[in-house]
Amino acid sequence: MNLNDIVKMQDVNLDGKNVLVRVDYNVPLKDGKVDNPKRINATQKTIKYLLSKGARVVLISHLGRPKGKVAPEFSLKPLVPEVEKAMETKVHFASDCVGAEAEAVVAQTKKGEIALLENLRFHPEEEANDKEFAKKLAKHGEIFIQEAFGTVHRAHASTSAITEFLPSAAGYLIQKEVEFLGGALENPKRPFAAIIGGAKVSDKIMLLNNLIDKVDVLVIGGAMAYTFNKALGYNVGTSLVDNDKLEEAKQVMAKAKAKGVELLLSQDAVCAKEFKDGIETITTQDQNIPEGYMGLDIGPKTIEYFKNALAKCKTIFWNGPVGVFEMESYNKGSFAIAQMLADLTAKGAITIIGGGDSLNVLKKAKIASSAYSHASTGGGASMEFVEGKELPGITALLKK
Ligand code: AMP
Repeated sequence: MNLNDIVKMQDVNLDGKNVLVRVDYNVPLKDGKVDNPKRINATQKTIKYLLSKGARVVLISHLGRPKGKVAPEFSLKPLVPEVEKAMETKVHFASDCVGAEAEAVVAQTKKGEIALLENLRFHPEEEANDKEFAKKLAKHGEIFIQEAFGTVHRAHASTSAITEFLPSAAGYLIQKEVEFLGGALENPKRPFAAIIGGAKVSDKIMLLNNLIDKVDVLVIGGAMAYTFNKALGYNVGTSLVDNDKLEEAKQVMAKAKAKGVELLLSQDAVCAKEFKDGIETITTQDQNIPEGYMGLDIGPKTIEYFKNALAKCKTIFWNGPVGVFEMESYNKGSFAIAQMLADLTAKGAITIIGGGDSLNVLKKAKIASSAYSHASTGGGASMEFVEGKELPGITALLKK
């Protein structure tokens, strides 16, 4: 799938219309205030575009996991001042997303203004993809814009059923995700590399199997690499290994060989006797990890090995840290990958970061996501996209 397959909001006549927008305002709150407005600011381009068309914008979102019940700690009301600041217009708030009050608040919202409706997930019908509920939501607009990439892998009323009642289109955030996770990976500039890290092969096997048909270079790091190294007969000590995935690891390696994919595994490891920060570590000379030690990060040899292989690549997709980046003793490998990709982006490579814990690596390494071609905002959604799964919220936006 690529950008040409979906309806973009620029393709639709929005002049003076009532536009219902599903946003992802699942922001962190602290002491009743927005702690980080990043997700609100990320929607600025789309919402300002709609306002510039003289539209009345009605925003719907979820926040947290209220599990179908009204829970004041998950109210969207504290977001009003932040949304007003970001969009530079008046924001009216309704204490429910459907029903008479919501309809009255929407009616009093002028063109060029915004109505923000209360948390969708206060209603169990949202996550149940209930049609009657979607129909009630649809009353608030003439057109539906999807802007919440983080939820498009779920069939919910505000991602799926709603599109049966309103003409629907993608906002800029969705368009960028589809452009990169769809188009750029489907038709990549070559050589095309994927770096897959993280803890478990079982979590990433679909991703690996889908990517192996597309990439020229496959780099495997993190604890995942030890399952592969064990399958090759190396000693892995007490490292985290998916013992029931050794066969699948062998199959991935066989497939890579058959397809001429260059497959790189870690060549050395930073190890410790316990899964603990700040204790004594050793760095191995090769893939073998001594008895009683566990591999917790890639070592300097592997960093250079990966760097050399990636230097020639024109498109690079990264999912998952190559070490226990949460602990200072084992973050160097993941930080080096993050820096390497930022440098390659500056030199013209297309770099796409998505899913798993990679975004947290960037945060910890203090590298802005703007240093990459695309850093996907939807963890689960981006992973499922690249696994080749159907995403209900994107399917709903396909051109008919
Ligand atoms: P994922 O969400 O699948 O990207 O997995 C991320 C997790 O993998 C992080 O919490 C890392 O700490 C963990 N991880 C990466 N490398 C290792 C390793 N060598 N041993 C144990 N856990 C690891």
